[in-house]
Amino acid sequence: MKTIGLIGGMSWESTVTYYQVINETVKQHLGGLHSAKIIIHSIDFAPLAQKQEEDDWDSCAQMMVQAAQSLERAGADLIVIGANTMHKCVKQVEESCSLPVLHIADATLSVMKQDGIAKTALLGTKYTMCQDFYKQRIEQGGVEVIIPEKEIDTVNSIIYDELCAGIFKEASKQRLLEIITELKEQGAQGVILGCTELGLLVRQEDTDLPVFDTALIHAEQAALESLR
Ligand code: GLU
Repeated sequence: MKTIGLIGGMSWESTVTYYQVINETVKQHLGGLHSAKIIIHSIDFAPLAQKQEEDDWDSCAQMMVQAAQSLERAGADLIVIGANTMHKCVKQVEESCSLPVLHIADATLSVMKQDGIAKTALLGTKYTMCQDFYKQRIEQGGVEVIIPEKEIDTVNSIIYDELCAGIFKEASKQRLLEIITELKEQGAQGVILGCTELGLLVRQEDTDLPVFDTALIHAEQAALESLR
């Protein structure tokens, strides 16, 4: 079994999901008392979120690079960045350490393609929804992406002001479900929960649109990769 190097803490609320799903997946496959070999480098989220807000992506990248290098030194065999937004810096991580990085958008895309999705809604931070680093990767893979143009701040603030702070509000869940319904009416055949905390609030049973929860997909594929 390979050792997974997980960059966590972005936020720690979703790192819990990663740890659980990775272990559950390994157990499902190997049975008995098996569990995942995993090293977590959990960062302090506040300074990272601050640098994102200041548009200082070089400093953000530096934090990811340091985390990845420490995981490499600690003996990890592959890197998993436990957040969508920080895949904006994936190139710097790949260039600065010799381990493979399992990209969250590629993992999600592979599941969507298996399910025959041609057009998807994307919910995530304002960076993930509006910038090219994520959307483009999905679109280049052959799936059209639409975002809630008028609700970018709403979704972004639910993520940073509530979910990343461990606050789960029914009203916010309902708002997200309304947004998902509006995107379905615009032709989305599925919705990417493109922020690793969104699945803590919205689940498949809440909507009839197929839900692609990036935290669950990424964690499961990381576990499967560690068993290859
Ligand atoms: N976990 C979130 C994501 O998947 C947001 C936190 C971050 O900015 O990294 O994008």
